[in-house]
Amino acid sequence: SDKRLADLTVEDTTCGYCAVGCRFDVYTDGDEVLATRPTEPEKSPVNGISTCVKGKFSYDFVDSEGRLTSPLVRDENGEFREASWEEAYGRVVEGFQEIQEKYGGSAMSMIASSKATNEENYLMGKFARQVLGTNSVDNCNRLCHSSTVAGLARTYGYGAASVSTEDFEQADAIFLTGSNTTEAHPVLGTRIKQHAKEGNELVVFDPRKVQIAEYATQYTKVRPGFDQVWINGLTRYIIENDLYDEEFVEERTTGFEQVKESVEEFTPEYVEEVTDVSEEDIASAAETIANNDRVLFGWTLGLTEHSHGTENIMAMANLAAITGNLGKPGTGVSPFRGQNNVQGGGGDMGPLPDNFPGYQSITDDDNREKFEEAWDCEIDPEPGFYTTEMFLAADDGDLRGMYCIGENPSLSEPGSNHASEMLEEMEFLVVQDLFLNDTAQFADVVLPAVSFLEKTGTFTNTDRRVQMVKQVIEPKGDAKADWEILQDLANRMGREWDYSETSEIMEEMRQLTPIYGGITQERVEEEGGLQWPCYDLDHPGTERLYEEEFNTDDGKAHLQPVGYGEPGELPDEEYPFSLTTGRVLYQYHTGTMTHPEEGIMDYNDRDFVEINPEDAANYGIEDGDLVTLESRRGEITVPAQVTARIGKGVVFAPIHFAETCVNQLTDSTRLDPDARTPEFKFSAVRVSPYEGD
Ligand code: SF4
Repeated sequence: SDKRLADLTVEDTTCGYCAVGCRFDVYTDGDEVLATRPTEPEKSPVNGISTCVKGKFSYDFVDSEGRLTSPLVRDENGEFREASWEEAYGRVVEGFQEIQEKYGGSAMSMIASSKATNEENYLMGKFARQVLGTNSVDNCNRLCHSSTVAGLARTYGYGAASVSTEDFEQADAIFLTGSNTTEAHPVLGTRIKQHAKEGNELVVFDPRKVQIAEYATQYTKVRPGFDQVWINGLTRYIIENDLYDEEFVEERTTGFEQVKESVEEFTPEYVEEVTDVSEEDIASAAETIANNDRVLFGWTLGLTEHSHGTENIMAMANLAAITGNLGKPGTGVSPFRGQNNVQGGGGDMGPLPDNFPGYQSITDDDNREKFEEAWDCEIDPEPGFYTTEMFLAADDGDLRGMYCIGENPSLSEPGSNHASEMLEEMEFLVVQDLFLNDTAQFADVVLPAVSFLEKTGTFTNTDRRVQMVKQVIEPKGDAKADWEILQDLANRMGREWDYSETSEIMEEMRQLTPIYGGITQERVEEEGGLQWPCYDLDHPGTERLYEEEFNTDDGKAHLQPVGYGEPGELPDEEYPFSLTTGRVLYQYHTGTMTHPEEGIMDYNDRDFVEINPEDAANYGIEDGDLVTLESRRGEITVPAQVTARIGKGVVFAPIHFAETCVNQLTDSTRLDPDARTPEFKFSAVRVSPYEGD
């Protein structure tokens, strides 16, 4: 359009891609999104005047040809045909009720969406328990940071970042591990790079020399799969050399002696043998952590997506606590959350098998009573199935139906071939999405939902900051917001939901959820965001956790002894390589939003595998050659990128394309015992030059 920006409608909103939570103004002409520009700095505390390529340009998906604009039902030949909402709702209600009557409500499951707003996710948890009668409601947090939530909750009390984004600029040193920050959290990555360029310390431990490592004062390549060994090695070095913060340990923690004892075996020799991290690297990183006043620890899925992810996190939490790096500006722990609203929608709002909103356990009688009364229903005290368990439960005949919203488990689950098989076998499957994604191919009914640009509500970003999301265009075709669809279905299934706008949902939620007790949409709008915990309407919100005390019964951090943990499947003669998976800058998860973007696809239109030059030479593989990767669960063929960024014996592949979905190789059965997170970051594979044409 050649219209001037001044002639267009402008509204500020929050980015719908990642959990950094950038805010910007969206310029529209009618229902066409023409541009985004950084909003006023006081309305965008996280990003100031920056946004990344996705925040700036990736909106074609909203208008793309593949958008669902009408409900779809199966015809007599099993093909999809368009249907009215009335007919589609009728089919859904009939399907859900048939499962309930035949097997009971607990045979139903629901996957909620971390792309949807807080208000919608609150309703997804309510719908599962009140309307379907099941606790088997979960979401994508299970695949990524649920081990962070479990590990941090056990040591400090809250399963969330203790810091605000501003703390990164106040740190003297930043310690990063398992995070490809510049590609997965670009605006945060830029802030960290800038901070390092200004002369502050940046230590990066990672199996890949990711771009942020180019700016590090110390980069250490680690063998994937054994993180708690080198983290315990750092803790041991700090304790042995009396470099820990005695006063903090004495006054604000319990369990130090047990941790001291538990790390004794992690001698430098042992750490080097298991993880390839040298004694010098342990010493220099430990000295950096101990000798700087303000150290901030950041991580993502490299630390969490393991069968011992919770232990990795507790080891990291011990390290931050014994060095006194909590509760002060520039210090703390920051698990960078992935999807835009995985912190809020994926956790805080309680579409979880074991928790109500605000992490109120469903096994606690008082909590259950409160929600039973508010929602007028009976709630089973037994937690339901976690997402990663749902497909195993379906195999056992314990789950028969699924309502899947804004997720794509057919590609995103570990052992995706098995997940797809189970989706196909579901007696009744409803998919609610913007697109006919891979999971929808197995659905009985598909309901068209809307994007974040077509609805109003709130998202909570990675630093617990609740921010407004505003409708800037009308929904495409007959598509509806998730909350409206849920309300229509609830009312057709005998309930009386009567929300006329999402602020009313927020109001109901906050009255039941102490940590959100003072958060209303009105305040979020007026105050430019609010960080939980925010207990009442006069509470200012909490920029930094644990300034005075931890969220535990005695107010202290409970240090946890953590032993040796190894991946569930080790390389052997048959499968000699360790496969680790991840993301690239230009794509987003399974690509439902980024594949319709021509500009993005020009940069990146396929997955690949990174392989070390020595390994490539041994197998006669050259850069660009097609390579077959095989695990005990499947095989894929992708082009090779020969690069020293990855260590010997390790290969890396991203997760963005259906045809080469690397989750065909990962394992659905090896789960973290606490958090049920799968082991995406470690599978034994073999590599061979592709032998086809
Ligand atoms: Fe959006 Fe994340 Fe990019 Fe910010 S960094 S513009 S939140 S994708």
